[in-house]
Amino acid sequence: MSQEMLRGMNPQQAEAVTTTEGPLLIMAGAGSGKTRVLTHRVAHLIKDKNVAPWRILAITFTNKAAREMKERIADLIGAEDADRVWVSTFHAMAVRILRRDIDKLGYKRDFTIIDAGTQRTLVKRILKDQNVDIEKFDLRSVLSAISNAKNAMETPVDYAKTANDLFGKIVAKAYAAYQKQLGLSQSVDFDDLIMLTIELLEQEPEVLQYYQDKFQYIHVDEYQDTNDAQYRLIQLLADGWKNLAVVGDSDQSIYGWRGANLEIILNFEKDYVGAKKVLLEQNYRSTQTILNAANEVIANNNGRITKNLWTENGDGEKITYHRSNSDRDEAVYILGEIANQVKNEKRQYRDFAILYRTNAQSRGIEEALVKANIPYTMVGGSKFYDRKEIRDILAYFSLLTNPADDESFLRVVNEPKRGLGDTSIIKLRAFASEHNWPLLEAAANANLMNDLQSRAQNKFMDFAALMQNLIQQEQFDVSITDLARVIYKETNYVETLKASPTPENENRLENLDEFLTVTEQFDKNYVPDEESVSKYVDFMSELALVSDIDNVDEDDNNVTLMTLHAAKGLEFPVVFLVGMEESIFPSFRAIIDPKQLDEERRLAYVGITRAKEKLYLTNAYTRMLYGKMNNNMPSRFIDEISPKYLDLSTVGQLDSYRAREASLPFAQRTQSVTGTTFQGRQAQPNQRTNSSTSRNLTSTRQVHQAPNNTTSDEQSNWAVGDLVSHKKWGTGTVVKVNGLGEDMELDVAFASQGIKRLLAAFAPIKKQ
Ligand code: ATP
Ligand code: MG
Repeated sequence: MSQEMLRGMNPQQAEAVTTTEGPLLIMAGAGSGKTRVLTHRVAHLIKDKNVAPWRILAITFTNKAAREMKERIADLIGAEDADRVWVSTFHAMAVRILRRDIDKLGYKRDFTIIDAGTQRTLVKRILKDQNVDIEKFDLRSVLSAISNAKNAMETPVDYAKTANDLFGKIVAKAYAAYQKQLGLSQSVDFDDLIMLTIELLEQEPEVLQYYQDKFQYIHVDEYQDTNDAQYRLIQLLADGWKNLAVVGDSDQSIYGWRGANLEIILNFEKDYVGAKKVLLEQNYRSTQTILNAANEVIANNNGRITKNLWTENGDGEKITYHRSNSDRDEAVYILGEIANQVKNEKRQYRDFAILYRTNAQSRGIEEALVKANIPYTMVGGSKFYDRKEIRDILAYFSLLTNPADDESFLRVVNEPKRGLGDTSIIKLRAFASEHNWPLLEAAANANLMNDLQSRAQNKFMDFAALMQNLIQQEQFDVSITDLARVIYKETNYVETLKASPTPENENRLENLDEFLTVTEQFDKNYVPDEESVSKYVDFMSELALVSDIDNVDEDDNNVTLMTLHAAKGLEFPVVFLVGMEESIFPSFRAIIDPKQLDEERRLAYVGITRAKEKLYLTNAYTRMLYGKMNNNMPSRFIDEISPKYLDLSTVGQLDSYRAREASLPFAQRTQSVTGTTFQGRQAQPNQRTNSSTSRNLTSTRQVHQAPNNTTSDEQSNWAVGDLVSHKKWGTGTVVKVNGLGEDMELDVAFASQGIKRLLAAFAPIKKQ
């Protein structure tokens, strides 16, 4: 036995690492080393048990987690072996399996994976074609009904059988048309990836046999969040050797809304008779204070298996609770704390994570970070791959690799403008469906269309010829970067943008340049695996799998911004849980539904336990969200933490806060008062409108801390015409001053940058 794999492990962890044969369930709280145990177990199998790396499968929840696990295994046993272990997400694994054998289900191996945006466009069009009033039937509910059906492994036919009400019937019809269109376009969506893999394994005994033999040891992290389809997939794969090790924490099940089924982990011992169970209770991540808070919050949930985490890490600092006047002040407070700790406590930006309940909350924080010039990475929530120009270019790529991809065709046939109107496109669609052709093929034969003028016919044929020409590039095996450049040029995309150099178009051009960094990176690192269809298809798969919870660049020294959901499994020295308010966290829906409230509390537990050394809980009296001004009560999750673990020095008098909270009936506490007009940030913090004074909030004192890198003199002294020296951008001139105090914003004209808006208190500027 190599001591390296077991070094520093506690006896339970060591037992889990060395129990390699048969089913194994590791149930344990946050930060107890579950993921670490899996990593060491894989290394142990290879190093000490001489198991071939390619016989091991490890499933993680995000690509980032997969990358991390691979790196850690490589640290233990070397990169060569580590690279041959299948460490991947469910979706990435499904793509690999399908790329190899999906032709057996009648698909081409270079099928396209469509993203959520394309899915929306397609379903919207289908509903329109079926004369469904989208105003009445929320598109999102239709999409999620389809997704749920897939996760429950219901085909359109199955679904139609049980659809009785009007909504169900609409979904059934849309689902059938949607699947038909996906089939014609040789496209699959994310849910299909799993469904089709199951179908493949169930229908093709030799494929099943191949993978059952191959994967002698299977590991699944975050097992509490598997849904029925994923469960079935694992069951099929593990049925050969039955060496299945799953780890999870029922208190961290937070994907119920995506079909995760907590029963699955709870039933593991029934499903796999003779399974061994290992419990871990020592936490290695957080301070005792943070753990106590987490334990207290989660203790309020119903019907859970009680467990108590403890640590040898010591009490550490108290948890800071800060209540600001407004969401803007909340952001300013957070970045003040970050700037302060970077300056005075030798922290790095990468030590900080700001976690929020919904992506919509990120905008304000992002703006503040930009103005204060604090580098950050936002995980998920649109950004780069949701940009129109990037989606357009990817649609071109997609059409090249899969000429049957009608969605991509429709996206780019008139982008840039080629003078093809909606009527012509509708006619082309009809023509294509008449012949059962993909749209690109129909376009190539547009001269056969009787109902279209020859001018439009020629335009379609020109477009088809252009695509044909690009498709040929692939045969020369050019790099992805070169192909991107050819697309930019030959489609006139870049030229069209350059022809009207509005700031927006310039920004689009910058993004297209940035896209070349992505392609260069891919070209540099590309190694085909055995399931590879082509470099181009692999590139498309890789981009498709960059899911919304996943694009952190490890090397950057950046503050991380992400949703609580995306933070699962991760850890940071300092964590801010922001927007801790009733109606936000817990969300409004959860407040009225006890089951959802339990899930929301698990999410709070996940959030709290991401912190290693220091945790902040923040909220605001008034908040602009979704275009509305809200005035929310502090989150009940704050109440659930004993005051002795909280540092309230920046909130004001705890007693009155608690007394008020305790004395109000719950219904009143959760009321969200909308439409409150707050008197502006320059007003006295204690000045409240009627609705809030009546709730006696006046006793809470608001203390703004000036960040240490600027004196208050410097903050307030700016005037138009002042010369500024900026760390990165050199000298500039103040052209406008907005606001006061630490909210003061300066518009500064820099020779190199043009006019930039900066937060006076935080930007790296000095008066000259
Ligand atoms: P989560 O539930 O959040 O996914 P987890 O149970 O998977 O947490 P890990 O991420 O594996 O926990 O471990 C938490 C931290 O504790 C990591 O930094 C890990 O390296 C460390 N750790 C785990 N076990 C030990 C140990 N025996 N000795 C030292 N450090 C450990
Ligand atoms: Mg983990």
